[in-house]
Amino acid sequence: MLTFRRFTLLFFITLLGLNLWNIFIGNSIGGIFHTHAAIVYSVLIILYFGISFAMAFLPCSDFHHPVICHGNTHEKTVSITFDDGPDPVKTPAILDILKKNDIRATFFCIGKNIPGQEQLLQRIVDEGHLVCNHSFSHSKWFDLFPARRMRAELLETDRIIKQVTGSSPLFFRPPFGVVNPMVSNALKNMHWQAVGWSIRSLDTMVSDDRKILNRIHKRLEPGAIILLHDFTHFAENHLEELLILIRKEGFEVIPLDKLLKLPSYAS
Ligand SMILES: [Zn+2]
Repeated sequence: MLTFRRFTLLFFITLLGLNLWNIFIGNSIGGIFHTHAAIVYSVLIILYFGISFAMAFLPCSDFHHPVICHGNTHEKTVSITFDDGPDPVKTPAILDILKKNDIRATFFCIGKNIPGQEQLLQRIVDEGHLVCNHSFSHSKWFDLFPARRMRAELLETDRIIKQVTGSSPLFFRPPFGVVNPMVSNALKNMHWQAVGWSIRSLDTMVSDDRKILNRIHKRLEPGAIILLHDFTHFAENHLEELLILIRKEGFEVIPLDKLLKLPSYAS
């Protein structure tokens, strides 16, 4: 598997190889590389940074850090995850629908949304759903923060969740799904397991709810992790329809810890 570390090693070996070739062979035989060495080096450096940057937006590639995006199962089970809550209006409506349909889901909560919503967070846990870490600020600049600041955010969110529920979450979903070297360093030697998704509903971007439903429907497969958001009108208006559709296709919705066969809280 190509990881950032291996990619960087390959990059420097290539640079070293080209340098040696240029010094010992290029001088005597010339050629395009010898005469345009500066351009070749520039292209290589641009490629290195371009690929490293692009891979941060493909978290499931495990390029910068291991991220679980799918359950390892052949059984027709899937998990539904809700990001960016708790939302004082929409989350209770979602919980009502989940309760009515006897479904356990997973909520990746933003730390700063929790103060004032402690009862709601407790309700999520009491009704059998998982509460997980989705950073404290979910700042649009989060991915530019130094690793130390990211880690401080995660620890603060852990602390707030533990204060209410009595347990620290082990699953962390990076804001915007971006996993860059800073996120990787923030997670290094810590207890969090980074979790992505395999079905991005696009519920924050697509206004046509039919398209969102069809998109999820088409991508249903054993072990799928579905990404939804608490605050969108899709979850509030079409969650029940989605649950019926999933059931009709023979799938069972289970919490993330059961799908991944991993503990969700620190003991
Ligand atoms: Zn988010």
